[in-house]
Amino acid sequence: MLKKQEKGYWCIVKDRQLYLEDQQLPLKEPCEVGFDLENVVEVGRYQGFPVYWLEAPEGIDEAGFDSLRALLTIDGELFNLAGRAIQLSHMLHSQRFCPQCGSECQMVHAELAMACQGCHSHHYPRLSPCVIVAVRKQDKILLAQHPRHKTGMYTVVAGFVEAGETLEQCVAREVLEETGIGVTNIRYFGSQPWAFPSNLMMGFLADYQSGELNPDYAELSDAIWATKETLPDLAPPGTIAWALIEQTLVLMEGDEG
Ligand SMILES: [Zn+2]
Repeated sequence: MLKKQEKGYWCIVKDRQLYLEDQQLPLKEPCEVGFDLENVVEVGRYQGFPVYWLEAPEGIDEAGFDSLRALLTIDGELFNLAGRAIQLSHMLHSQRFCPQCGSECQMVHAELAMACQGCHSHHYPRLSPCVIVAVRKQDKILLAQHPRHKTGMYTVVAGFVEAGETLEQCVAREVLEETGIGVTNIRYFGSQPWAFPSNLMMGFLADYQSGELNPDYAELSDAIWATKETLPDLAPPGTIAWALIEQTLVLMEGDEG
């Protein structure tokens, strides 16, 4: 449990945002936090320090709270623990009623789950699996621009996994639907929890197989084949999208040599 003298990282969550000081998670002793600590949950440890999740008190001012995106430049391990706090907070607010019987649920701290007060069933944080894929065609990479990204940045294709679908089928379907391109040689790259609010991004590399670029403008505002000389503004470092693009550029260079 909480040791009063032990410094920890504090993920203080309000409306899926985190309380930050100098764009960092506060690293402090519990007595320095200044809030009621009754419902503190340790969500993990980072470099020997506990990492705590605490719901911000009702009515607290929004000043000082920022999106998890502000932490993209910190170490991925701590970023993911902050995301875990946000996902648990999202569970607390969005899973308040039992999907089986409609009774109220309360959080069980020991399990980090919601327990129904009526039928006693337990409900865990919802996760939405998504694929994200970098497609390569010789010295070009397929990049898409989404209307929801106000900065106009480009990124790789992504989408939610459908029921009954393998990850590889999802990769092929999303790329075809969004860009008209058929892919082959689909291989797993890595994953990233993405607490906006509850996605799990599963990254893949793939190669061009067939088709002409034909963006689905219901989903995208643009799609392009970019060479390393013609790269537009990209998804920021720290995202799996960035890592996939970087890896694809490395593969292109390897072939040139
Ligand atoms: Zn129930």
